[in-house]
This record gives sequence, structure tokens and C-alpha cells, in this order.
Amino acid sequence: MSVRPIVITGDPVLHSPTRPVTDFDDELRGLIADMYETMDAAHGVGLAATQVGVPLRLFTFVHENDDDAPNRGVLVNPRLTLGKISEVEPDKEDEAEGCLSVPGLAYPLKRADWAKVSAQDEFGRPIEFEATGWFARVMQHETDHLDGKLYVDRLNARWAKKARKAIKKEGWGKPDLTWMPGVDEDPFGHSDEE
Ligand SMILES: [Zn+2]
Repeated sequence: MSVRPIVITGDPVLHSPTRPVTDFDDELRGLIADMYETMDAAHGVGLAATQVGVPLRLFTFVHENDDDAPNRGVLVNPRLTLGKISEVEPDKEDEAEGCLSVPGLAYPLKRADWAKVSAQDEFGRPIEFEATGWFARVMQHETDHLDGKLYVDRLNARWAKKARKAIKKEGWGKPDLTWMPGVDEDPFGHSDEE
């Protein structure tokens, strides 16, 4: 198992749709082990395969929930059915979302408060549950990754403009940029001493 570098926005792998997983083999499970380790080292609540440069349809997550779902797991070939997304202005604090591939930044975004999740586990067995609240948000954020979309692509005009500026200022938005969890400074200020 090893921690892998996390790809930063601008690399084509983050902005292209992924291939469905068809081989539930040891290679897949090796990738999943690395994704768990990378997600934990980065203090993330979710990590899509594209974020470690692999264009396959799966993500790992770790998030407490009141739903009938594990707090930690992998979802292979996920499909979501979403509740309605409110069109009112998102709350600046309570609905600010971040992403390990847009490190250190956060912008508010409305998401569906409910999602039905259908997927497979690392052996190809079916998984199905309903997710609510922030857990539903995590499911939407990670599934978006697998469709080649980042949360910053979904921001309203006001926040999208701020995000574009900030990304430009960081010098991102081009291929081959990565950061290394556990080596580079933690972009969201988490530390292992917590
Ligand atoms: Zn993300």
C-alpha cells in the first residue's frame, strides 16, 4: 500500500468521464487500498480514482452518517438518484464545499439533501442505500468527479468568478500538477496531532 500524489485541477484526468470498472481483481483492490491510504493521509472525506490519476469509476469515502450506510467504504460504478436541489443562494458557511484537487479553497454550493446510491463493492457485489444531509453531499461530490466534473464547475456565477480567479492566482488549471499528502503542508490545515 502506498500514498499516491493527488492531482490538481487542470489535468485532463479530472475533467473527463471515467470508464466503468469491469475487472474486480487484485489490481482493483490494490488501487482501493492506496486510495484509502491517500484519503486518510490527506484528511479527506472522499477520494475519487481520478484524483490519483486513474480514469476508473470508483471512489472511497469516510463520513459519519445517520443513514443505513457504512461510515467508511468504497463505491464502484456508483449511480445516484437525487432529490430536488434548491435554487436559493447557498449559505456561505454551512454549505461551503472543498476538494482535495482544489486544495485549500472552499466555496458554497447547493446540493440535493437526499440521494439514493446504487453501486458495487470491491468484489462486484451490489450495494444500495439512501444518503441524507452532508453524507448525501459527499456522494454527489465524489460521483461528480467520476463524470469529469469538479464542484467548482457547479458554482453559481458569483462564486464561480471568485473560484476562477483564485485558481488562476495559484497557477493551477494546467496538466501534471499534484500535491503529496503527508509531505506537502496540509492544504485545509488538518494535522495528524488532532
Ligand atoms: Zn473533490
